[in-house]
Amino acid sequence: MIAIAFLISAVIFSGGTFAAPPAHPSAGPSEPRAPSGKAPAEAATESGPRAGGKSAKASPTAPKQAAFDSTRAFRYLLEQCALGPRNPGSEGHRRAIDYFSAHFKSLGLSARLQTFAHKDMTTGKPVNLTNIIATVPGKDPKRKPAVFCAHWDTRPRADMEASLMMKSKPIIGANDGASGVAVIMELANALKNTPPAQTIYLVLFDGEDYGHEGNIEEYFLGARHFADNLPAKDIEYALLFDMVGDKNLSLPMEQNSLKQSPELVRKIWARAALLGLKAFEPRVGPNVLDDHIPLQAKGIPAVDIIDFEYPYWHTLADTPDKCSAHSLGVVGRLAESLAITPP
Ligand SMILES: [Zn+2]
Repeated sequence: MIAIAFLISAVIFSGGTFAAPPAHPSAGPSEPRAPSGKAPAEAATESGPRAGGKSAKASPTAPKQAAFDSTRAFRYLLEQCALGPRNPGSEGHRRAIDYFSAHFKSLGLSARLQTFAHKDMTTGKPVNLTNIIATVPGKDPKRKPAVFCAHWDTRPRADMEASLMMKSKPIIGANDGASGVAVIMELANALKNTPPAQTIYLVLFDGEDYGHEGNIEEYFLGARHFADNLPAKDIEYALLFDMVGDKNLSLPMEQNSLKQSPELVRKIWARAALLGLKAFEPRVGPNVLDDHIPLQAKGIPAVDIIDFEYPYWHTLADTPDKCSAHSLGVVGRLAESLAITPP
């Protein structure tokens, strides 16, 4: 993804005081906002090494116990990285498509490959791209479906490296790519025994990170194609998971999500507070251009769950040792809760 206004937003939260976002008019007394920037302490259930197996505090709206297995999710992150860089045209890219298909198939889910070609804007050559769409049927067929998504491709070049030689190498993308996908893959497991309230499309986008810096037209290729070819006419909402594996997980509210869907963002962060997931911080984060933008452009309320405070972004050091099962568990637990009890 690209953080166009990252420096500006960094200024917003570097002062230590939390400025209310201009596009956040729905903030009410129940807002999970605290001066410390932390969620209410009484619901703190995130402190263990694994968020997966703990039950939520009793509450009439508290979703039931999570099945999301953070250890298994982390294994999915490792397995993706073991395929090597997964940038379009690479061997890892080809193998990853089979890997994802086999995963969803093994869980008895239909996984559709949405293939398309993109004409590279520099070389003019066609680049073959593939979105993977797995459908988890919901309990209520009349309810509009939701989309839970992440990008599976990795960046073809490590732009943020200092040396020219390093810059040209493809990244392994443990956090930028594999982490969000690992959450989606494990979610398919977690929802096996507890069907979601509404049908959930688990979507892995290709070609998110293909573009050269400064050329926005060549980013989000898979999400653009998906948005133009939606699996259902009406999508209730979409949740995007990107860079959610950082060991030091910090998930403020992304600005474009807030601007488009302030109420949905408020509900999601309130749910996280209810579950005691303190990494979800009730403060305004950076302004990020990501796969949620093409979905928003089609009128789908779309929220980007992203930790952009990651020093290894677009470097060769974006490797599994910078990530943790715990972080995947925090995000997975929220995703599972929203699937079972919609926001
Ligand atoms: Zn990236």
